[in-house]
Amino acid sequence: MAVGWFGGSCGHRAYCRAGDIVHCPGRKIPGRSYPGGWAQSITVPADTPAHIPDALDLLDAAPFGCAGVTTFNAVRKPGARADGRVAVFGLGGLGHLAVQFAAKLGYETIAIGRGVDRVKLARDLGAHHYIDTPPRRPGLP
Ligand SMILES: [Zn+2]
Repeated sequence: MAVGWFGGSCGHRAYCRAGDIVHCPGRKIPGRSYPGGWAQSITVPADTPAHIPDALDLLDAAPFGCAGVTTFNAVRKPGARADGRVAVFGLGGLGHLAVQFAAKLGYETIAIGRGVDRVKLARDLGAHHYIDTPPRRPGLP
């Protein structure tokens, strides 16, 4: 089982009734709403844990608890056409997942990062294109 940033819902406000439990002001967050977070073990509401398939290694599954949900919804929910194009800014903790989701969902995927050393990583993650951005110059907006 995995417990991500989302640690339970109130189940009765309009957001929860509409299925948008992440945006409900009554949502629960481990470490904030109840003890947990970096703990070795925690007690969580019954609707909180996500099942991890036996075939998936726990370390491989861990990013899906928060970053995976965040990026998957960011790629999926804007309603891009099936032949659409998705640009992902950054290839860090969230971006590397977003690039993989976008590419696997069939979008023409553009990774935007900093440094030519990221080209291979972007391609390995499934990006069709990579745009290298220069570092921000002092004095420019
Ligand atoms: Zn709620």
